[in-house]
Amino acid sequence: MRYEPSYLNLYEQGHLKQLADDLEERAFSCSLCPHNCGVDRSRVKNGRCRSGLLPVISSWSPHFGEEAPLVGRKGSGTIFFTNCNLSCIFCQNYDISALGHGKEVSYRDLAMMMISLQEQGCHNINFVTPTHMVYAITRALLTAVSRGLHLPLVYNSGGYDSVETLRLMKGVFDIYMPDFKYSDADTGYKLSGIKNYPEIAKGAVSEMYSQVGDLETDEAGVAYKGLLVRHLVLPNNLAGTRDAVDFLAGLSRNTYLNIMDQYRPEYRAREHLELRRRVTLEEFDVAVNHARGAGMKRVGRF
Ligand code: SF4
Repeated sequence: MRYEPSYLNLYEQGHLKQLADDLEERAFSCSLCPHNCGVDRSRVKNGRCRSGLLPVISSWSPHFGEEAPLVGRKGSGTIFFTNCNLSCIFCQNYDISALGHGKEVSYRDLAMMMISLQEQGCHNINFVTPTHMVYAITRALLTAVSRGLHLPLVYNSGGYDSVETLRLMKGVFDIYMPDFKYSDADTGYKLSGIKNYPEIAKGAVSEMYSQVGDLETDEAGVAYKGLLVRHLVLPNNLAGTRDAVDFLAGLSRNTYLNIMDQYRPEYRAREHLELRRRVTLEEFDVAVNHARGAGMKRVGRF
């Protein structure tokens, strides 16, 4: 039996249109994310994410480098949004997140990308860095559903998300895949320019979990619903991995946790002595062993 995403219900009941209107309204004095910039994005692009109203896309295609339950046999249908509400000095996609490389598209174009990815056989539509573009996604979804979209939607964010906005969007996304980047607020400020990252990310991830629960997969191991968290181990324990893992284990020991070892010093990382090297095998093993020791059952490199 095919999984039926709950956005189809929202569409049938007419709620999706209202939601798109409500979210767009919030962009006119922008409070879509915890920065609460208050700027009118229909007129200026001087909020923290430097984004106007229309989405800017850097790329879209079936992607085979995501986590195995998203990739399956035919790939995850990724759509990469340009710009970001974080300013990570080690960002590996800084040309997209910080330098703004991408192309502005209409809501209809965005809808047609979703349809095309579905037609190419992708298992899901995976919105990368969606936080500042949630109204655009919802607006485009109206068109996409009318043209037959039925795939699960993935919300693939940096974890700095507003609980209020997430609650408004309940039912739109089937899979949440946030980062949990830091458990120390000072480190979050130093490396991403965010003063309250751990507090906000904990609230956001808890809300996501309350909406979708643990990750669920079909008989082929392909995910259709639930929470999947990414944690990038940083050199010299800058990510505060133990506390991050303890928080996630407290949420659910069945949380699907991808502990990542692929950090490399990119962008402005070399300005910080502690960030100038890759993670050692030992540092990575300590992180994974701690997660397993905390009782987490779905942990590793995926
Ligand atoms: S989405 Fe952008 S403009 Fe809106 S509050 Fe967040 S950073 Fe500011």
